[in-house]
Amino acid sequence: DRMISSELHDEDVSIEQSLRPENLKQYIGQEKAKQNLSIFIEAAKLRNEPLDHVLLYGPPGLGKTTMASIIANEMGVQFRTTSGPAIERAGDLAAILSSLEAGDVLFIDEIHRLPRSVEEILYPAMEDFCLDIVIGTGPSARSVRLDLPPFTLVGATTRAGLLTAPLRDRFGVLSRLEFYNTKDLCSIVERTSEIFHVSIYKDAATEIARRSRGTPRIANRLLKRVRDISQVKGETEITVETTRMALEMLQVDPAGLDHIDHKLLLGIMDGFSGGPVGLDTIAATIGEESQTIEDVYEPYLLQMGFIQRTPRGRLVTRKAYEHFNREVPEA
Ligand code: ADP
Repeated sequence: DRMISSELHDEDVSIEQSLRPENLKQYIGQEKAKQNLSIFIEAAKLRNEPLDHVLLYGPPGLGKTTMASIIANEMGVQFRTTSGPAIERAGDLAAILSSLEAGDVLFIDEIHRLPRSVEEILYPAMEDFCLDIVIGTGPSARSVRLDLPPFTLVGATTRAGLLTAPLRDRFGVLSRLEFYNTKDLCSIVERTSEIFHVSIYKDAATEIARRSRGTPRIANRLLKRVRDISQVKGETEITVETTRMALEMLQVDPAGLDHIDHKLLLGIMDGFSGGPVGLDTIAATIGEESQTIEDVYEPYLLQMGFIQRTPRGRLVTRKAYEHFNREVPEA
């Protein structure tokens, strides 16, 4: 498994629950999203109405699920969760919707992966809080309308553009989560250390933060591994030396890149003279799916300025050549 993948690993599931901040105050960073949401939450509470439907989008591990559960906490309602791939038939979603209580937050992770027939059930549910159900088949079939309690749908996806227009249009609040800066990630590492009951020097926490690809999930995972190594070494407080050694062992480089990022960047440098080269060609060269590259690996490389997107494909930048101590080829 990829140490620094931002996707959820099995080992994360139990600890992630214990690390989740419970209210907006504890949620570190994402000032824009927090400010936006807190206004909508406040207004909905004043009107005594459920919050408008919210779409959260951004790369995996940035805190979409966490934010959704905080919305439910702040509204003082139940938090129900499911995911796009888990709902196979329209009836599955109808069952979930009709079991909601007034005001509940229903969280649908990976909402772009809902089957089309299921998605269509959502339109009237979101807009008019009702379900259109067809009873019977053939000439005797008829449609019945069932009322639902008013609820808030919170959808999460890696890119808003993956949603169909009719679904996207039904969200009143669209909120994009951004990669975290080092300072915020450092605060997250320090907060997690406290929950783990371990001490960590500031420079060690900063080192983890710098190598976590702007992603809290990765920061927490790296901290867990570094803690293990520090404890084996008999340290009472995690030092920066141990942190660096541990991260080297885990093959996470000083910019937070791992062997897959290296394969990707070096593949474009060596195989295609630095590009531009099409996404599908890169995918075939390094043996990863195009969609995964686009959603999981590439956003951070773009953010860091190691690659650029051009109409003719991906281009490796001067900064990437410098990162590998290589000479930049003549244009
Ligand atoms: P996503 O749903 O976007 O994949 P999650 O909400 O599951 O991401 O977040 C992954 C982990 O990172 C959570 O366990 C949570 O502890 C931590 N986390 C995410 N955002 C924050 C934050 N702003 N402050 C503190 N911890 C966070």
